[in-house]
Amino acid sequence: MKIVLLLSCIALTCAKRFDGDQVLTLFPKAPAHLKLIKEFGSIDGLADFWSPDSADLVSIGKSVDVRFSTKNIRVVKRKLEKVGMEYEVKIFNVQSLIDNQFDVPRKSKAALAYDYDVYHTADEIIAWSDDIAARYPSLAKSETAGSTTEGRDIKKLTLGSKTTNPMFVIDCGIHAREWISPAVCQCFVNRMLSSYGTDSQVTTMMDALTFIVFPVLNVDGYAYSWTDDRMWRKTRSNYGTVCYGVDPNRNFDAEWSGPGSSSNPCSETYYGPQCASEPLTNVLQDFITDNNGNIRAYVTFHSYGQQYIYPYSCKRQDAENADELAALAFDSTEAIYAVNKKTFTFGSGHATMYLAAGGSDDFAIDNGVPISYTIELRDEGRYGFLLPESQIGDSCTEIYPALDVISKYIM
Ligand SMILES: [Zn+2]
Repeated sequence: MKIVLLLSCIALTCAKRFDGDQVLTLFPKAPAHLKLIKEFGSIDGLADFWSPDSADLVSIGKSVDVRFSTKNIRVVKRKLEKVGMEYEVKIFNVQSLIDNQFDVPRKSKAALAYDYDVYHTADEIIAWSDDIAARYPSLAKSETAGSTTEGRDIKKLTLGSKTTNPMFVIDCGIHAREWISPAVCQCFVNRMLSSYGTDSQVTTMMDALTFIVFPVLNVDGYAYSWTDDRMWRKTRSNYGTVCYGVDPNRNFDAEWSGPGSSSNPCSETYYGPQCASEPLTNVLQDFITDNNGNIRAYVTFHSYGQQYIYPYSCKRQDAENADELAALAFDSTEAIYAVNKKTFTFGSGHATMYLAAGGSDDFAIDNGVPISYTIELRDEGRYGFLLPESQIGDSCTEIYPALDVISKYIM
């Protein structure tokens, strides 16, 4: 019996299932509505906040996307109706979206090329980093920048015809469940390498800048989101509590442990036992401080929401160059719109989103990087974190000109 169970576990990967789970969009319009949402947030395991990141960040007049499990959904709806809060069911069955995200047919094994239109596992991305750099030895270098809590490699790719040019640092996969993010880093790297010498714009940028790409920073969390829990967001460290994981985007040295982050290890926005406790935080912080003065731009890709967010998010203050960040975000989001007519909005974190201390974009701007953005990729919530693979291609092609705008600006 044990053997049979074990075999079926391997076949089905034993991942947590989300049959009948729903994502509701709530429209809080009164203090009683806020109170109920915070009550939902205070019960461990009841509400999985998709947008914003936690109950603490909810405010009157801004819609909230939350996943509830099938066993709680009736009670939740009854409570919503009792306080008169409007809501709509955004996703009727989370599991069916998980099953349907793999909607691009796999290429036959005979086709040797890496497939950029599908999602890849952590192991595949690690192997790909070394493989693609080996294919373009004069333009790319793959290094292991650090090692995760569970011993996985954190890969760093250096792209460009020279390694001494001003740098543009791009990272993906800080949050595990935001799968479109690592997918965009991979297609971007492939585009810069495969188009060098044939596309004059790419060639110019690769001759003038050094691109540093971390294709997936939270490698443990990302791997766990494939094998065990598709909805996992944090790292996989454990500091002796019942709950695992630190929110890496609350772990940076930017008003660490301040507003919009939690001291509760079970919270999705847990800031960790100390600043930069997580290996990925250390890797990125060290890289930015070691290259202080040489990095002209930093972009961190997240999902979802179709937004450009710039500092500060950790305090109610604009960056000194807020006007410059707004103007460049305007040009960059216009470039996105021109490709697929997708609207991306922009604004400073504290003014347009909510206070969230300990984020990587704020750390970057405070450590010598003048241009710093968090870019929330597709979509606006129809699929949320479960964007189907069939949208990877368009997500990539709309981001290329947007990154080109920033590259040309800093050249
Ligand atoms: Zn994120």
